[in-house]
Order: sequence, then structure tokens, then C-alpha cells
Amino acid sequence: TFEVVFVGRSNVGKSTLLKNLTGRNVRTGKRPGVTLKPTHLYFDDFLITDMPGFGFMSGVTKEKSEDVKNNIVQYIEEHADRIFLAVQVIDGPAFVEIVERWDAREEIPIDLELHDFLEEMEIIPIIAANKMDRVKEDEKDALLNDVVEIFGYEGNWKESGALVAPVSARGGDIRPLVSHLKNEFHKMKRDDLFKHF
Ligand code: GDP
Repeated sequence: TFEVVFVGRSNVGKSTLLKNLTGRNVRTGKRPGVTLKPTHLYFDDFLITDMPGFGFMSGVTKEKSEDVKNNIVQYIEEHADRIFLAVQVIDGPAFVEIVERWDAREEIPIDLELHDFLEEMEIIPIIAANKMDRVKEDEKDALLNDVVEIFGYEGNWKESGALVAPVSARGGDIRPLVSHLKNEFHKMKRDDLFKHF
């Protein structure tokens, strides 16, 4: 089995992105943040796993949110041998503000913790910056530069070494993510995996 996991806080557009990418519906009718378990999409021996959304939302306690994070970490540890890639979905236009809010509370945002954890586990993280349709064209580069800096990379987003895919899942504009995935599959000599998309 070859596995790719999708992680991200609630409401970043992870389900919309997965639907666009795979043509399949995930997590239909489930309230975000309430489900602790990952959802799976199978394509022969290729597996896409949709992790529960994390972060704070109405009706979800801080403890519950920690549970979600711990479950994600535990799942990834358990399946690290077959997980090659992780797509970390963020809300592009909201990300900087969310991080600043955590900073003010002197806490480390879950997105950053997960990013470092994935690298430790030798899983390649692709940062899918979603909802880019809400960002003005001439402000996109500056925003993405801030994003990679927050994730701990040096230099501008295109040269930092970070795999960043600015996308708009709702508009169906997900090509940058598709090309990162294709590229990584190619490096692993698994071009066949992409025939599914
Ligand atoms: P999830 O909780 O991360 O699975 O998020 P959903 O896929 O349910 O999307 C959350 C909300 O964001 C919905 O109202 C979507 O219509 C909206 N959304 C998703 N993708 C985009 C996008 O690319 N641009 C904009 N503007 N909104 C989006």
C-alpha cells in the first residue's frame, strides 16, 4: 500500500479539495471536528486518508481538539512505513492571523507542530494553501512568503525548498497541487498512481 494523508484544521476546505482531486465525496454529512477517525479512499493499492480536522470551533472543547491532534500523530506513527506524502491544507488568507493568535497565547500552532513531526517521520509535506481566490493577485507572493517563513523555511516561497501549492478548491483550480503530487510520484517511480486522477 502506498498512502497519502491529508491534514488540516477544520474549515480550511480539505473536503472540497479532496472532492476536486479524486472526484469522490469524503466525510459527507459528518460534523467537522466531531469525528476522531480518519476516512479512507482506496484506489487499488493506493490509499488516500482524510484526517479529521483539528483546531477550535464552536461546540468543540480544547481537550477534544487535543484528542484530534493526538489521534493524527498516533495514526501517522503507526503507518509511517507506508505513508510517503502528507498534504497539509491551510486557509491561505487566514493562516498568518491564526498563527499570530497562537503566538499571542505562547502556543505552537498545530499546523507547525505537524509539519515538523512529518519531517521527523521522513514524510514529505506539501503545503496546500487553499482559498487563494480570496487573495488579490499582487498580494499572493507576499502571503506565500510569509507562510513558508512561518513553517521555518528560508527565502521566498518558490526558492525556499518548501513544496507549496497555492490552490482554490472551490474554484476547481488545484493544478499546483496536482503537479507537486505528480512530481513526487515520479521521483518514487510510481507514475502509475496518477492515472486515478
Ligand atoms: P473542511 O472542514 O476543511 O473539510 O472544509 P470544507 O471543504 O467543508 O470547506 C469549508 C468552507 O470553505 C466551505 O464553505 C467551502 O465552500 C469553503 N471553501 C472551500 N474551498 C474554498 C476555496 O478554494 N475558496 C473559497 N473562497 N472557499 C472555499
